Amino acid sequence: MSLMFSSPVVTPTIGSFTFSSRRSNYIVMSAVRSNSASTCPVLTKFQKDCATPTPYLRNVANAIADDMRAGLAVEGGGDLDMILTYVDALPSGNEEGLFYALDLGGTNFRVRSVQLGGKKKRVVATESEQISIPQKLMIGTSEELFGFIAAKLASFVAKEKPSRFRLEEGRKREIGFTFSFPVKQTSIDSGTLIKWTKGFKVSGMEGKNVVACLNKAMEAHGLDMRVSALVNDGVGTLAGARYSEEDVMIGVILGTGTNACYVEQKHAIPKLQSKSSSGTTIINTEWGGFSKVLPKTIFDQEMDAKSPNPGEHLYEKMISGMYLGEIVRRVLLQMCETSDLFGQFVPVKLSTPFELRTEHLCEMQADTTDDLQTVGSVLYNILEVEANLQERRRVVEVCDTVVKRGGRLAGAGIVAILEKIEKETKRMGSGKRTVVAMDGALYEKYPQYREYMQDALVELLGDKLSHIAIKHTKDVSGLGAALLAATNSIY
Ligand code: ADP
Ligand code: MG
Repeated sequence: MSLMFSSPVVTPTIGSFTFSSRRSNYIVMSAVRSNSASTCPVLTKFQKDCATPTPYLRNVANAIADDMRAGLAVEGGGDLDMILTYVDALPSGNEEGLFYALDLGGTNFRVRSVQLGGKKKRVVATESEQISIPQKLMIGTSEELFGFIAAKLASFVAKEKPSRFRLEEGRKREIGFTFSFPVKQTSIDSGTLIKWTKGFKVSGMEGKNVVACLNKAMEAHGLDMRVSALVNDGVGTLAGARYSEEDVMIGVILGTGTNACYVEQKHAIPKLQSKSSSGTTIINTEWGGFSKVLPKTIFDQEMDAKSPNPGEHLYEKMISGMYLGEIVRRVLLQMCETSDLFGQFVPVKLSTPFELRTEHLCEMQADTTDDLQTVGSVLYNILEVEANLQERRRVVEVCDTVVKRGGRLAGAGIVAILEKIEKETKRMGSGKRTVVAMDGALYEKYPQYREYMQDALVELLGDKLSHIAIKHTKDVSGLGAALLAATNSIY
């Protein structure tokens, strides 16, 4: 095996990359990867606690793989739920008709219509709308949340142009409902909520059928629609990406939260109590739940303790967009309190949870000016602090430490799944390509995060990487959900 690992070659799609077999010049995205010596004790300790050298990452990947196997063996066997999705067939390309996708999974709610024209015409027309979810609905009642969704859906359908979209007579409008929270699926079109994550805490819904909640709300709004497929956004991404590329085996979401779904061989799923053990099915790993071998710092522990689900989803809390900014804020706060940063006073904004967001980290890490002007203005505008150049540098180092750890750990998770697939199928061994479909704004918009993730893949997979492609498939989960509604249509 060669030690000359490859560097990602960026393909025309944003953030997608394949691997070549020779190392070319590595592009350092900004000054943040500089090796400026730090004399700040809080920062030094934090960097040490966050470190994920290759052997450590290998342990993480192995531990995730162990929990995958444990979760496939019995319900609740490991940290990863390894949920059966009831999606055995991915889209073939022959799907026809008008279908809808509804996506509820984080800060936004999306609705999409797709007119499918079969193998030749493919997607004939599509229309979508994104609506942000008012904060109060995330912690309100299920009637309020689903009432809001049904109302938006009704107005979306009302705007539909008959020249572009045509529903076959006698049919209801069928929806692929992407609900990106842990669900215990009971069939392709029903599932009960296991627990809320990502800041949602809608009362009285845990243990309830989420499709029934939506159906009830649609009925109340006089909407003649039905949910034909309940899917996770990872499954939607996998299905949507598969529509245009046969080698897609994994769908990964890196946005507000994170998850991964993949194609598993039925014979490798002991808990699948069906007679047939041939063929494949999609497993929703709920990998965010992984909590074992992780580089936990005091800041992670404190953030976790204050979260709605303490002790759970620790992997998600280290790698997904909702939390990276908050971890950085907590480190900066302690640096400030121990007088390593920002003078004598602790700024109010710096003491406010979630005031600093992952978008801000990204903006600061993109700063290429000598005096880190953007860093200065982000700190001023968001945290209301005036930072000198040395302080700005330190802030960027904190951001980089958190993002490096997050990206590398995400890479370790992808490796765990790739190796599991390889173990069951030997596809790479037989020269076949495996494509990982990626979606989510964190992956899309944070170049340093992507790079660190790629580093982890290079370190852990070596020359096997020549058979792997990571593809950024933006917003295909909606298309995927609509396709799965078509595949599972009652007509
Ligand atoms: P969701 O996960 O809610 O479906 P997205 O995939 O759009 O939605 O992800 C949104 C999350 O992505 C935000 O919560 C934020 O953490 C992260 N994000 C958004 N924009 C950026 C950015 N410019 N840089 C880094 N992270 C970002
Ligand atoms: Mg999403």
